[in-house]
Amino acid sequence: MLVREREENPALAAFLDQLEDMQVLGEVLIRKRSKGFELRHSADADALETNLTEYRLADLRKLVDFTSDGRFRPLKAAPNLRRGWRLRLVTASDLANALDRLYPGVLADWHAAREGRAAVTDFRTFMNRQSGMYRVAQQLSDRQAAMTIRACCHPRHCLKRRLWGLEGHSRDVSNDEEGKGIIPCLEPCAILLEFARTAIRLEQTERHRLEMTDEEIETLQTALTEALSKSDSSIRYGDFSAPGNPRRLELALEKLRVDGLEKEGGVKQLSIGAKEAATFRYALAQRDGAAGSAETGGARESRCKLLLEKIDGLVDSGKESEETMG
Ligand code: SF4
Repeated sequence: MLVREREENPALAAFLDQLEDMQVLGEVLIRKRSKGFELRHSADADALETNLTEYRLADLRKLVDFTSDGRFRPLKAAPNLRRGWRLRLVTASDLANALDRLYPGVLADWHAAREGRAAVTDFRTFMNRQSGMYRVAQQLSDRQAAMTIRACCHPRHCLKRRLWGLEGHSRDVSNDEEGKGIIPCLEPCAILLEFARTAIRLEQTERHRLEMTDEEIETLQTALTEALSKSDSSIRYGDFSAPGNPRRLELALEKLRVDGLEKEGGVKQLSIGAKEAATFRYALAQRDGAAGSAETGGARESRCKLLLEKIDGLVDSGKESEETMG
């Protein structure tokens, strides 16, 4: 890189200075070559070049916008980048352009965070700026907001590392940063904003107390975790009205964790509304029909069925249609 180029793009210069021969950024493996760089999906690290499709810089848009099953990727840092491609770049500036298309703003944000001069906005400051239909998200309590953030920003859904917290600049609401890379998140994104609006709407439906045994909690946790491990191509990532949306499954799982459960007289209870019940139903129905589990099919089926009946007996989902979520 020439001195003039270094001065014009200090973020790129700093990135190149620390770049190893092979380095992963998000889901992209960057390899230094004798003439330039090669980029490919990190899961394709060992793939033969002949088995990968050669891409050009101009092809990146179609790569980043859609998943392999044709769904739009509203969040470019989501761990669902398509595989099977390879991009050869000659200059450092081409590398900067490619990274910016894969992860918008990544070098500037990474450099600012590294230099300790990134402008970070915490959850409350960000939400307090909202008006119109997003204003309602300000009503999330600290506990609800913490669960919402953990669910939305979980490494299953986003590879960015949060530098902001609930209040102040500390990562005070989560330990979910494990497994994340070096791409910083400086403030809540549009997906989190929309999800926060959904989360408070979920809370604002009529509440019911679902009493559960430890075994039932485990069944539900397993069902939600399994549903999260599958990819339902019929559900758009940004469609939070869908009971089986991955972030809604994640939030349901969060609520089942210790801080989501209330105990009265030793009985574990979960406060749920019709829309949360719909998410539990979605996960249990998937598990009910799951094949190849280590558990015997009959035992699993009857456990899921009993739990479904219990939820149905408590919450009449017909009263609150998913379609009506405002
Ligand atoms: S707010 Fe969360 S989901 Fe959005 S980019 Fe940041 S870490 Fe990712």
